[in-house]
Amino acid sequence: MRMFEYGPAEIVGRRFVCSCGKVHVSPVKRVTVRAGAIEKLAFAVRELGGSRVFMVADENTYKAAAERAKALLEDAGIDCAVRLLTTEPGFERPEPTERTLGNLIMSFPRGYDAVVGVGGGVVNDLCKLVATPGDLPYIYVPSCPSMDGYTSDSASVIYDGVKSSVACKCPDALIADTEIISKAPKKLLLAGIGDMIAKYVSICEWRISALINGEYYCNEVAQMMRTYRKAAFENAEAAANGDPAAVEAIINGLCLVGFAMTYAGCSRPASGVEHYYSHLWDMRCLEEHRQCELHGIQVGVGTLLSLRKYEKLRKMIPERKKAEEHIRAFDREKWEKDVRDYFGASADKIIAIEDKEGKYDAEKCLLRFDIIAAHREQILKIMDEELIPADELEALFEKIGHPVKPEDFGESAESAAAAFAHTSDIRDKYILSRLAFDLGITPDELREDI
Ligand SMILES: [Zn+2]
Ligand SMILES: [Zn+2]
Repeated sequence: MRMFEYGPAEIVGRRFVCSCGKVHVSPVKRVTVRAGAIEKLAFAVRELGGSRVFMVADENTYKAAAERAKALLEDAGIDCAVRLLTTEPGFERPEPTERTLGNLIMSFPRGYDAVVGVGGGVVNDLCKLVATPGDLPYIYVPSCPSMDGYTSDSASVIYDGVKSSVACKCPDALIADTEIISKAPKKLLLAGIGDMIAKYVSICEWRISALINGEYYCNEVAQMMRTYRKAAFENAEAAANGDPAAVEAIINGLCLVGFAMTYAGCSRPASGVEHYYSHLWDMRCLEEHRQCELHGIQVGVGTLLSLRKYEKLRKMIPERKKAEEHIRAFDREKWEKDVRDYFGASADKIIAIEDKEGKYDAEKCLLRFDIIAAHREQILKIMDEELIPADELEALFEKIGHPVKPEDFGESAESAAAAFAHTSDIRDKYILSRLAFDLGITPDELREDI
């Protein structure tokens, strides 16, 4: 039997001595994914040593689940103080900013000893950060399947104006009641599907980078993602219609993403270039004081755009002369100006990443070109094995009502093109845009819409 042919509940508390050479462990102590799981909440609080709970929700999730969760805790003799997230002026919903986090910390009642988050990804990310400094027990009760990272040890937040991933504790327990989650608004269900579908691209890029850069890669962890991205694809239609069993398949996948990242010690199993579209759209929205789209929806569309670009890229034959001209033409001053124009307040952070990594260093790029050219067949094989045809994904998205293009949620083809051109710059991860640069292929040559 393969090591990871389990649902998330079965891998809790297990140590895996893995073929990748690592011993995989996760600090998550309990995962319950089923209809009626919320009945377990008081038990889980006590199991973790909690007796007075600081509960965080938002206006919608309070009605959908937190009100009931509070009643269940109080019936079991556990004090429960609820704080609802605040929405900053100019936004439609609460955002994970320093201000929102500060508001929660200042509301934390003295003497309370456990945190329960009831809601979507923003609630979870903020609660993880609230529970981290005192290492308080933290239980997450998702109200929707809108994103992965339920059980990860990082929080996706807006920090100094930049969409950042901040290290924090994992939830100690996850109580996912599929009866509650399947009643979430359809758009949130679609977002969960989009975020799982992203794993076609993330795993492909993880393998490509392992081949080109010798980066650590674990096939067992990748296999977990393959199993659940397929389950997400197959269950998408039923899940989008709120079928609890299909929603459970999506939730199991979203839970496992957090485990996969903890096991691998990096975000490779979860995210690649498709996620960077989302981060960049979020950053632009922040800069322009616009409301951004749900993470999972942005990522779903980012996946579709990335698949189209991979289809273009795979037909191009590497030419060293062309690549060398392109690589040597890189103009640091021009790049810096462009970064300042695009990123505004967060440009200094972006420039510091390049100063540290030197990804545009011509000699390093040419070394990688030679490795890519020598391994072209293997890279194409990885794309064959990991990616699905863009048309197939588009047909699925059309059928379930998931957006298929940036214009479907207030972005544009131009904003997508600009985002793709900057995907190389926001992290030090080797992704499609970096591969294209090393091959001397410009972002325009990969435009899927022209
Ligand atoms: Zn491994
Ligand atoms: Zn995601």
